[in-house]
Amino acid sequence: MSSDLFVYDVVFIGAGPGGYVGAIRAAQLGFKTAVIEKGDTLGGTCLNVGCIPSKALLESSELYAQAKKDFNTHGISVTDLKVNLEQMQSRKSKIVKDLTEGIRFLFKKNKIESLHGFATLLSSNLIQVKKNDGSLIQVKATQAIVLATGSVPNELPGLTIDEKKIVTSTGALSFAEVPKKLVVVGGGVIGLELGSVWARLGSEVTVVEYSEQICPFLDKEIVKHFRRSLEKQGIKFVTGAKVLKVDDQGKEMSLIYEDLKTKTQNSISCDRVLVSTGRRPYSEGLGLEDLGVKKDQRGFVQVGTHFETSVPGVYAIGDLIPGSMLAHKAEEEGVALAEILAGQAGHVNYHTLPSVIYTFPEVASVGLTEEQAKDKGLDVQIGTFPFIANGRAKALGVTEGLCKIIADSKTDKILGGHIIGPRASELLGEIVIAMEFGGSSEDLARSFHAHPTLNEVVREAALGVTKRIRQM
Ligand code: FAD
Repeated sequence: MSSDLFVYDVVFIGAGPGGYVGAIRAAQLGFKTAVIEKGDTLGGTCLNVGCIPSKALLESSELYAQAKKDFNTHGISVTDLKVNLEQMQSRKSKIVKDLTEGIRFLFKKNKIESLHGFATLLSSNLIQVKKNDGSLIQVKATQAIVLATGSVPNELPGLTIDEKKIVTSTGALSFAEVPKKLVVVGGGVIGLELGSVWARLGSEVTVVEYSEQICPFLDKEIVKHFRRSLEKQGIKFVTGAKVLKVDDQGKEMSLIYEDLKTKTQNSISCDRVLVSTGRRPYSEGLGLEDLGVKKDQRGFVQVGTHFETSVPGVYAIGDLIPGSMLAHKAEEEGVALAEILAGQAGHVNYHTLPSVIYTFPEVASVGLTEEQAKDKGLDVQIGTFPFIANGRAKALGVTEGLCKIIADSKTDKILGGHIIGPRASELLGEIVIAMEFGGSSEDLARSFHAHPTLNEVVREAALGVTKRIRQM
């Protein structure tokens, strides 16, 4: 069957943060660029069912929680406080719609073609697209095909996802009613964020985690505070537990798990289960096996330093390749690759890749944890400073948490920064930039920080590296 042929310089497959940001940079650099996306909207996981809708619900539910428990202490009384979930969900959907349509506008502005359909590679420069109306076209890339097909949620044996009662993050972003009892399987970033949303709105939330510790990638001191704080908000934790199955008795369900220490079976009754046990790279139907594109044991596409796969001319970025599954990582990889294709020195500095958990308090970190630094045999000095001693935090009425800065003992170079506290996501930025510039704790300590601001916590932690804290 013959099909139409369209020719571009660079073709991205997937319009998530990797694909759409990379495409914009490629177009800016003069490449005739197209993006093939199987969904009807642009923006990928992040904008449609990830970062953005989750943050919209986190903000709304946090406002409700504050009105319920904190307003009184400010002398503000609220009567008849209610959640209108339909309104909350439609606000979320509008934010998603605005942003995804914003990408369409950016594509138009940058003369990027978006083709909606499922892409399969026929060769290292030819793609077949089964368009959403069923028709077939072929797309030729004269310079590069970039795989940016992202990731999908992991499944768990014994639990059948129906996106109604047993859901992934996608279902948990769209509950039409607040679950009475929600079990979150997996104590990682997504589970804790979405667990927080529903706990604030009134669900009884239990997080069941296989490891002994939630978020094992975090600095241990931060995790200790984090768990305590979530527990104070009513979230229960069952750690060291292997989930076996869910028994569905109609209205109620029981989640059955094995306690890994005692080897006993226990159950938790619930009406909804969120399975958030991580995500896996998605490359189904792309035809990579036939083409010989190499993947690792976990299904991640293997790339060299310039993001080229084992097949010349075919590149991969974002969640599809090894590394943290984060939108800003995918974006930077897309940009770096476009610049490399244009003969420039595109580069991603993974040492300064920040990661954030948007719970309350927020948790934000960059670089090495104390444990990682010590495991590497590095001699470090550490400064910490608590929010309780910060004037702005007191005025805000949010004094939980601390900032921790890890610096090399000899050079004073910042190796890592970890914050748990109000707006930690925003506060981390200055540590990231200091690290990007090769900065020291002294650089942060000597920089002006307006008073009173939450940023002073970062400065005091930096002063703490050399035992010069002033505000406590
Ligand atoms: P994706 O965004 O997954 O995009 C891949 C696109 O490729 C999809 O649109 C898919 O439809 C398309 N596609 C796949 N196969 C084909 C094919 N064969 N043909 C055509 N199109 C195809 N990250 C953060 O940094 N901050 C956060 O706060 C955050 N929150 C999150 C919350 C949730 C609930 C989830 C699930 C994720 C969150 N993430 C967050 C992770 C973030 O969404 C991902 O890291 C990011 O989207 C990865 O970008 P990507 O471009 O690699 O892939």
